[in-house]
Amino acid sequence: MPTESEIISLIRRRVRTSGDVLTGIGDDAAVIKGSADKDLLACCDLMVEGVHFQIDWTPPRLLGRKALAINLSDIAAMGGVSKFAMISVALPDRCSEEFIVEFFEGVFEMAEEQGVSIIGGDTSSSREWMFVDISLIGECGAGCAVTRAGAKPGDVIYVSGSLGGSALGLKLLGDGVRLSELGEADDDRRTALLKHLSPQPQTTLGRAIGEARLATAMIDISDGLSTDLWHILEESNCGAIIHADAIPISASVRGLMSAAESTPRKPVACDTSLGLALSGGEEYELLFTANPASSIQIDELKNSLGLAITAIGQIDEGEGLRLEQEGRLSPLAPSGYEHLI
Ligand SMILES: [Mg+2]
Repeated sequence: MPTESEIISLIRRRVRTSGDVLTGIGDDAAVIKGSADKDLLACCDLMVEGVHFQIDWTPPRLLGRKALAINLSDIAAMGGVSKFAMISVALPDRCSEEFIVEFFEGVFEMAEEQGVSIIGGDTSSSREWMFVDISLIGECGAGCAVTRAGAKPGDVIYVSGSLGGSALGLKLLGDGVRLSELGEADDDRRTALLKHLSPQPQTTLGRAIGEARLATAMIDISDGLSTDLWHILEESNCGAIIHADAIPISASVRGLMSAAESTPRKPVACDTSLGLALSGGEEYELLFTANPASSIQIDELKNSLGLAITAIGQIDEGEGLRLEQEGRLSPLAPSGYEHLI
């Protein structure tokens, strides 16, 4: 079977669009010409049981929240505001009424928090697995959508929040750790599990970056920092260096990994904190590039929103992505930093 990127290239080659499509396939969301002062943004995300989530370790309310959150994150990554959602589900017989009610409560809860109206969708039965697909429509100022294609040599690379928590949360779930069974003192494990099961999309930050036109390129971290930065480099035709010491690693990851290193049987086999932060997916933080002249405004934004925004490297004219660690440069493949894992 072809890979996901081969299938996308196949579709991308075949698709013909009208002049109203300003950005088509290949970004976090499509950009469509709207009114004189607004453009429309549209995206969708399919979640498949057994591939993207496991019903036995996911509280249904959190699954509903996440299904919408991952789309909200894509509109945020375009610098836009989310407005309308359509939700389709396919449910196997084993899903109880209580499960379904809780799942939709999660969707509605997230929609209300983010000012999104649910305007339709579809339902189906399914023989074996549960499927959820949400389509989201948003908007941004005309010509203001932040694509992956605008990074320029000299730009600074920034990331919001801290990284590694979602990947560690997934590993803990795979090892049998469950949210409902954690004790009072399990803060680090709870934080990591929640980062994976209930990510909070950076909607306020994405919108603010879009409105102030602070970023030259932006993407949300769904595949992992190294892979998503590669997407920006490919679309922008440039290279980059990031600094290992600058990568913001989640406190929960540092706490759990340092405990793991001092026990004979590591709960997370042979990973490192940096490896998780560089290659761990489903973080839903924003990764963006900006002209150095915008650094004061970015600092002001960071302070006014009370969010972590960290400069991790620079865009350059070099070849691909390189990681600087203790003064040495090494190539960093899109699949993550394999030497560390
Ligand atoms: Mg995305």
